[in-house]
Amino acid sequence: MNVADNLKKIKSEIPEEVSLVAISKTKPENDILEAYNTGHRIFGENKIQEMTTKWENLPKDIEWHMVGHVQRNKVKYMAEYVTLIHAVDSLKLLREIDKQAEKFGRNIDCLLQIKIAEEDSKFGINVAEAKGILESEAYSKMAHVKVVGLMGMATLTDNTDKIKEEFSFLKSTFEEFRSRYNSFTTLSMGMSGDYKIAIECGSSMIRVGSSIFGERNYNK
Ligand SMILES: *Cc1c(COP(=O)(O)O)cnc(C)c1O
Repeated sequence: MNVADNLKKIKSEIPEEVSLVAISKTKPENDILEAYNTGHRIFGENKIQEMTTKWENLPKDIEWHMVGHVQRNKVKYMAEYVTLIHAVDSLKLLREIDKQAEKFGRNIDCLLQIKIAEEDSKFGINVAEAKGILESEAYSKMAHVKVVGLMGMATLTDNTDKIKEEFSFLKSTFEEFRSRYNSFTTLSMGMSGDYKIAIECGSSMIRVGSSIFGERNYNK
């Protein structure tokens, strides 16, 4: 199967209200164009430099999502064009995004990454830290950045009950936050291996890479 077929198949299988971010990291621009030519417009990357090169070279109506961990000193390279930053994990980072967005006269939407997996290596903050950010005076003064929801990554495991438990926890946190903070619209959870479970658990945005573009080869 090719990229266009993979993408069409996944889209036909997911509910219409769930948005699909095609994760094109490490993949060539031609693969992105193949997906683009089916009408798809939302793509995600995890490295700011790679995303920026692709943004420069590819059609300008693509919506670029940054799904990876963000270093503050690199926010300036994507502030001009990025549509959604999925993995915000500190007030300091939010402040930098606000500052860079202002320079371009833009408002940038962000998600807070909540740590739901048990692995130590996964980034993210806990629920109390997320509330701390959302209720801080500093955040209330930021005019160019808006937190519109939450993002999370489940433990990499074959144990579907465990994955369900983690996604359900994130969903209930999201619902609680949505009733407190009226900017909340988006719950980003689910990747190639677990997006069906994520949708069952109430995801509104899935991030799918290898099931669309094929396995990634990091050794090239
Ligand atoms: C790479 C990546 C994905 C997509 O992973 P696949 O398993 O290839 O679907 C989703 N989310 C994040 C944050 C990623 O870095």
